[in-house]
Amino acid sequence: MTVDGTHHAALASGLVDELVGEALVWSSLHGLVVGDRIIQRSGTVPGVGMVHAPIALLPMPFPEDYWRQACELAPIFNELVDRVSLDGKFLQDSLSRTKKVDAFTGRLLDIHSEMLQINKKEDIRLGLHRSDYMLDAETNLLLQIELNTISSSFSGLSCLVSELHRNLLDRYGNHLGLDSRKVPGNKALSQSAEALAKAWKEYCNSSAVVLFVVQPEERNIGGQAVAVVYFRAGYSPRDYPSESEWSARFLIEKSNAVKCPSISYHLVGTKKIQQELAKPNVLERFLENEDDIAKLRKCFAGLWSLDNAEGVNRAIERPELFVLKPQREGGGNNIYGEDVRKTLVKLQQEGSEELAAYILMQRIFPASSLAYLVRDGIYHHDQVISELGIYGTYLRNKDEVVMNEQSGYLMRTKVSSSNEGGVAAGFAVLDSVYLT
Ligand code: ADP
Ligand code: MG
Ligand code: MG
Repeated sequence: MTVDGTHHAALASGLVDELVGEALVWSSLHGLVVGDRIIQRSGTVPGVGMVHAPIALLPMPFPEDYWRQACELAPIFNELVDRVSLDGKFLQDSLSRTKKVDAFTGRLLDIHSEMLQINKKEDIRLGLHRSDYMLDAETNLLLQIELNTISSSFSGLSCLVSELHRNLLDRYGNHLGLDSRKVPGNKALSQSAEALAKAWKEYCNSSAVVLFVVQPEERNIGGQAVAVVYFRAGYSPRDYPSESEWSARFLIEKSNAVKCPSISYHLVGTKKIQQELAKPNVLERFLENEDDIAKLRKCFAGLWSLDNAEGVNRAIERPELFVLKPQREGGGNNIYGEDVRKTLVKLQQEGSEELAAYILMQRIFPASSLAYLVRDGIYHHDQVISELGIYGTYLRNKDEVVMNEQSGYLMRTKVSSSNEGGVAAGFAVLDSVYLT
């Protein structure tokens, strides 16, 4: 028996089998499922070819202090995004060098700059964000990985995983020595829906609809008045295979509809802006409250632009301590380890502007523990690390802040040997929090 100080030490295999069986039945009955890639018609025919979502069998222990800290940060980040979004010059200036070497970010900036030229105002501003953190074992600090302002995914499934874990602990908690009340409630999905509904209401046109932009129906903007546009797609170059998608994005931006996100909110969520905001005295430009500023700064990891020779040289010497990030979303884009050195050396030798496409980030090393991960009906007992995402909703109409809340969470757990580990990519699983 392995003992690592948590409940994730090895359990009797009979008990694990029983728990896995219960978890899989529960998942099927409650819609904790995803499309099964093995089944060809899955994804085109609704209700065909579903499999349980990849999950951790039991919730991940997480210290309550850090949990509270992460929750407290949500409304502050919401406010920060809003303030930064209003500073068009800051966004354009900060991303000007990136624009030269990154065509995708360039196109977003072009739309943004056209909106500045026509002096487009967004009175109603809706943000559905997710700020992601890891607990750094070396410094004992909760450090931000990134802030997502577009298409912050998994709000639906994450609520279900919390419910599943509570349910399992209600039934097996005595055996496991665990209390289901230590799994925080998760209302991410209903709170996102509430925010969309409230934005629709602020728009004041009862016959207007809420439009979801999903892959691959970009061009369908309907024959109806649209009050709110939610972008579930549009964050990746792949979502714009032709000029029509860009025209659609432009048209939507120019319209009066509430966008989630607007082009400015989208740009505030880029990694380059994350890095610029972490520079000394930048937060002070956007926020007045000193406590808020201190709380934000405390969760910032080391971030450098690649015109900082000192940072680049350190990363070439000790690449394992850094992550190199381009301006992309959706996972699988970052560079780690020896590849950091190779990429930096190559870009330096070429003396190329390409360096501006990336930012450099301190690598965060969470403590690992043992957990049971369940995928395709099979469980593995693995050494894992976790990333906690906190959802935030923000709705504002001119001077009135209608909503500014922390709204649920997403815990993702991955095998500790994996650098990136997306849930869809097959390395990470959906998890929930067990407060300790
Ligand atoms: P994306 O927008 O593609 O999700 P992220 O910045 O979240 O980009 O990086 C993807 C994943 O890479 C994260 O979920 C995390 O597992 C890992 N990662 C990113 N930054 C760091 C870091 N500084 N230290 C350790 N792991 C990181
Ligand atoms: Mg992201
Ligand atoms: Mg991420």
